[in-house]
Amino acid sequence: MPGSPDPRPVHLVLGDQLWARPPAAAAGRRLLMVEDPGLATRRAYHARKLVLVWSAMRHYADERRAEGWDIDYRIGESLDTVLAEFADITAIRPREAGIRPLLARHGVVLVDDPGWWTSPEDFGTWLARHPAPRMENYWRDLRRRTGLLMDGKQPVGGRWNYDDENRKPFPKNHVALPKPSFAPDATTRAVMDHVRTLPGLIGTVDGFDLPTTRTDALALLADFVAHRLPWFGPYEDAMSSTDPIGYHSLLSIPLNLSLISPQECVDAAIAAWRAGTAPIASVEAFVRQIAGWREYLFHLWEQFPGDWERTNALEQERPLPAFFWTGDTSMRCLSIALRRVLETGYGHHIERLMVIGNFALMAGVRPQEVNAWFHQCYVDAYEWVVTPNVVGMSQYADGGWVARKPYVASGAYIDRMSDYCKGCAHDPKTDCPFTVLYWSFLIDREHDPRLREPLMRNLFGLARKDADERARWIAARARLLPTWNP
Ligand code: SF4
Repeated sequence: MPGSPDPRPVHLVLGDQLWARPPAAAAGRRLLMVEDPGLATRRAYHARKLVLVWSAMRHYADERRAEGWDIDYRIGESLDTVLAEFADITAIRPREAGIRPLLARHGVVLVDDPGWWTSPEDFGTWLARHPAPRMENYWRDLRRRTGLLMDGKQPVGGRWNYDDENRKPFPKNHVALPKPSFAPDATTRAVMDHVRTLPGLIGTVDGFDLPTTRTDALALLADFVAHRLPWFGPYEDAMSSTDPIGYHSLLSIPLNLSLISPQECVDAAIAAWRAGTAPIASVEAFVRQIAGWREYLFHLWEQFPGDWERTNALEQERPLPAFFWTGDTSMRCLSIALRRVLETGYGHHIERLMVIGNFALMAGVRPQEVNAWFHQCYVDAYEWVVTPNVVGMSQYADGGWVARKPYVASGAYIDRMSDYCKGCAHDPKTDCPFTVLYWSFLIDREHDPRLREPLMRNLFGLARKDADERARWIAARARLLPTWNP
């Protein structure tokens, strides 16, 4: 009958659900994929993010078609309009909360997300037993339950973690490894040409070299395990003006598209340890990031009892400084970190947390503005991973739901962990804005009963500052703030 929905069953594949093997629920169904320009441009994303997602989707459709799947691939149509054509739709439960009401409106039947060790229901049960959740408790429980990095009831090697052996700066003679690079093929080049025509995006598509296929993702994993994993643990927190990646894996990019599974990444790292090619200190640190932190943050984000759009525990209301969109600042560390992201859509975890996030927190920027910036600028950014990382861990705006303390540090930390301060216009001990903001932040919060314990170690240092010095830090901040937000 004209106008009635197509009764043939379809399985919707969203852009971050590119699992090599579609779920059992998809058997016998057409795979439906939609490049919805409205969804993709609801924020001014980085141009490379759009190329990454759309190119990965097109490659995925081609690969499944070659395997015999019937594919219905739509370009430039609204997902809402396309879903209205069908009466029988299944999909993997979306990670992005924003899209769930749309799927519910169209009666889409959801199946479990295969990417987690812990289901949302099981995490809810765990949370009921841990109303003040802590990652370390979750991680140990997960290891006991799954046997990950366990030797019977004990952690392998006899220790739960090796953090005291890690967290080193790069040695003076550090040389960057070549960055894994994936030359765009005809499919990717066609998407790049299209994205070039879209207005208002961040950065450019020129130089795009990100992994867009499962083959690329597996090659990235193999490269990481062979060349970077052995050094990942010791230098996880190191930063360099000449090495934008260090020993980080870049695997968040294909992982967050589901081109590769977290289980595959963890298995490869553990196999390297068993083969004696990577030390346990690096392997435990990497496995904890993938099976621990990444998943823990997803569940904490989903089950947060507050409102991520409004939560602002530290009552921070300053606007984001304009230089976040240009990198044009005298602070060398921040300039390097911002420009990397604006140019490439990527910067590693410690630059995100301890340079960009640290600055925004100490400068009093409204947490949701910081969150929006991160969401727009990074190619691996999704609501479920950015929001708990930024609003929670980095900006402490959730009052300690995600992190047990505000991540604040002065110029001395950045000087210790990087080479940024050499050649900077500021001195980390005297006029460095990070140092000015750090002491001012502590002075402001010294008598806040909620922060006394979380900031205890930092406040020991503040106790040695006399009234004159405190007044000088506060006055220095008063001179700086208007220069960032005139
Ligand atoms: Fe950054 Fe301060 Fe070091 Fe300059 S002196 S690079 S502003 S930490």
